[in-house]
Amino acid sequence: MKCVMCNKGTLKETNVEYKEYRVLLGKYKASVCTKCEEAFFDTETAKKIQVKSKELGLLGLAKRQKWLKLAIA
Ligand SMILES: [Zn+2]
Repeated sequence: MKCVMCNKGTLKETNVEYKEYRVLLGKYKASVCTKCEEAFFDTETAKKIQVKSKELGLLGLAKRQKWLKLAIA
């Protein structure tokens, strides 16, 4: 599968550590681009992240973000 962000890299399934405002939300399955390192989460995973984010009271802050930011482990 090709990356829709850069159109050059391919997406590789891997586990990434997802952080929001320096708070580690956990490790999640994502498709990460081999070129630009953009990560794409499937709907199920995105939901899980949202729930976790809500638990930690980060959801309001996250609303302004267009893309989920992450740190690759
Ligand atoms: Zn890319």
